[in-house]
Amino acid sequence: MLFDTHVHLNATQFTEDRNEVIKRAFDTGIKYMVVVGFDRETIPLAIEIAEQNETIYAAVGWHPVDAIDMTDAELAWIEELSSHPKVVAIGEMGLDYHWDKSPKEVQKEVFRKQIRLAKKVNMPIIIHNREATEDIIEIMQEEDAKQVGGIMHCYNDSARYVQTCLDMNFYISLGGPVTFKNAPLPKEVAQQVPLDRLLVETDAPFLAPHPNRGKRNEPAYVKLVAEKIAELREMSFDEISKITTENAFSLFNIKK
Ligand SMILES: [Zn+2]
Ligand SMILES: [Zn+2]
Repeated sequence: MLFDTHVHLNATQFTEDRNEVIKRAFDTGIKYMVVVGFDRETIPLAIEIAEQNETIYAAVGWHPVDAIDMTDAELAWIEELSSHPKVVAIGEMGLDYHWDKSPKEVQKEVFRKQIRLAKKVNMPIIIHNREATEDIIEIMQEEDAKQVGGIMHCYNDSARYVQTCLDMNFYISLGGPVTFKNAPLPKEVAQQVPLDRLLVETDAPFLAPHPNRGKRNEPAYVKLVAEKIAELREMSFDEISKITTENAFSLFNIKK
């Protein structure tokens, strides 16, 4: 039994066959998922998918790439939706310096506002980080994100930042890159993260694990991520599945 903690079943890549994708995940033993909303279109759809499936939950937040489009109206809307019974986290939010649609200063402000919102509604945060680790950590510290904790989603940076994230009550979530042949960093992280802070995810439709790299990712493939972590830690797949699923329950405050 696995928990895919970060999946975009609400992305247009799944419009045609979403229910088949969900069924394939359930059939592969991926019983739980969090569908992450990140803009005006994907947030309501995340909630709709969660309403239709008992073991699927939603997260609501604003993606840093589109930070420039977020006004106070969107922030208020996210706050309102956070009280929905299937919403379990605020995010994804963070910083993405790979794309330049939103200036860094705008991204930082929108990130800070969402951390404050998560603290106000007392929910964990899902953080998206691309090429911005040091600025992310600085803002997390300044805004005291530790109060609510959360997830460093698709963690893909050096293991040397892991302890700082753990100290702020954050979990480390690993995805497809841990299976990539030329990716030493996530493998090192997979071996070092304390077991009680480890999560697995797909970030589907992106970042499909080996041997599906380059294809559309889907939640069933989170099994490949968990298998790789089990191999790296010399543990059984069942142990990794059980531990990461329990971790997700406790982080998202889900009562079974
Ligand atoms: Zn992301
Ligand atoms: Zn995502």
